[in-house]
Amino acid sequence: MKLKFYSPILLVILCFISITNNSFSQKILFKDVNLIPMTSDTLLISQSVLVQDGKIVAIDDYKNLKPKKKSKTQVIAAKGKFLMPSLVDMHVHLPDEDRVEEFLKYNLAAGVLHLRVMNSVMDQDELKRVIDAEDGVLRPSIHFSHLIRRDKSYTIHQADSLMKKMKETEERFVKLLSLGSEETFGNLSAAAKSNGVIFCGHFPVYQKFGQAYMVDMDKVLHSGFRSVEHLGGYIWLQSDDQIEKSIQITKLNEVYNCPTLDWDVMTSNLLYPKGYKDRFTYKLLPIEITKKWEADYKSYIDELGGLEMIQGSMEKNQGAFEAKKKILKDLYDAGCLLLIGGDAGTHFQAPGFNIYEEMLHWSDIGIDNYSILRSATYHAAKFFGEHSTWGTIEVGKNAEMILLTSNPLEDIRNIGTIEQTVFGKLIFDNGQFIKSLKELSK
Ligand SMILES: [Zn+2]
Repeated sequence: MKLKFYSPILLVILCFISITNNSFSQKILFKDVNLIPMTSDTLLISQSVLVQDGKIVAIDDYKNLKPKKKSKTQVIAAKGKFLMPSLVDMHVHLPDEDRVEEFLKYNLAAGVLHLRVMNSVMDQDELKRVIDAEDGVLRPSIHFSHLIRRDKSYTIHQADSLMKKMKETEERFVKLLSLGSEETFGNLSAAAKSNGVIFCGHFPVYQKFGQAYMVDMDKVLHSGFRSVEHLGGYIWLQSDDQIEKSIQITKLNEVYNCPTLDWDVMTSNLLYPKGYKDRFTYKLLPIEITKKWEADYKSYIDELGGLEMIQGSMEKNQGAFEAKKKILKDLYDAGCLLLIGGDAGTHFQAPGFNIYEEMLHWSDIGIDNYSILRSATYHAAKFFGEHSTWGTIEVGKNAEMILLTSNPLEDIRNIGTIEQTVFGKLIFDNGQFIKSLKELSK
């Protein structure tokens, strides 16, 4: 896998990484910035944040952190700007090796520094080897998964050996893609629990005599299953009472939900024919990219047979989408844990940037901006049990932060004003990065 294009800024970053390696200890100081630490719904006015060796080492008044005359500290004058933890995409599908470099760059450009991989075109182990072989290339932290598919069943013993083996591999969690039997679900969740391995994914559904059955909702929510994707399960319940009861159990057992609303919007063509032009990402990315998207989309719709052929499914899916929005709002109102997932993969969806679209959908249904941002930062770290090292801006945490021109707590669309991203010892310019994406797309 070779980078097709190195922009000047990328070259600087890449050289920087290979020269600096682990021994370099640069200090970066954000001076007089408005801080959104994501530890609570507060904005701390005019703070200074010192980064050393990739860690946040001090948050204080500038006068207490002012570097000495000959210090090599890089001071960033950030008065009137906003600093918050960098973002996480909790529902990602990695492409094959030809496109993975581009995919990862999109995420960096969007200020996304952690990815939870739910599946990939190539085998994840193989893809990981390819990515790791590119030594010294800047990329987000990737949380790989072990996929469970319906064609393989697990006895309790087999499930236990899988979880034990996973402690030695770099697969960070088990993702249920599809399920062979209810028994397999029980065995996997028991083994995950006793081994302390994260088990999550699609709501468990299995086939029997040509019919689909969902595993009992109560059973799933009590099993230790850590997150449910796409609001599966909830959307199939028959009554409001059942939904309400399930939401209460969700809250009680601290089960996360990763709704991926934008997947519904775009795979069901709900914005056809012109609505996609109002999409946030459409306005943020270079026209060279969006033009190409339009052409691709046009031929896709033509292939399907034009508007007449998609209209029926659009109407049907609009109804399903409304039902999902209501369930998400109910989960939010009940105080359940939520995760932001972009699930980008279809037309007008860009990796990384698609979590902005997801944020806008959440905002439209009345979820407050702090809760949205917390789902894309702290909750993600907590999901992995890594909230003591990343996900907030606090002394001792990894320096993974984004600097914004405008306050996203005030208006969620301000998430599109990221100027710079700090990733450990590195700092890069997001605007430059976005510009360089159009070269990658050629
Ligand atoms: Zn997905």
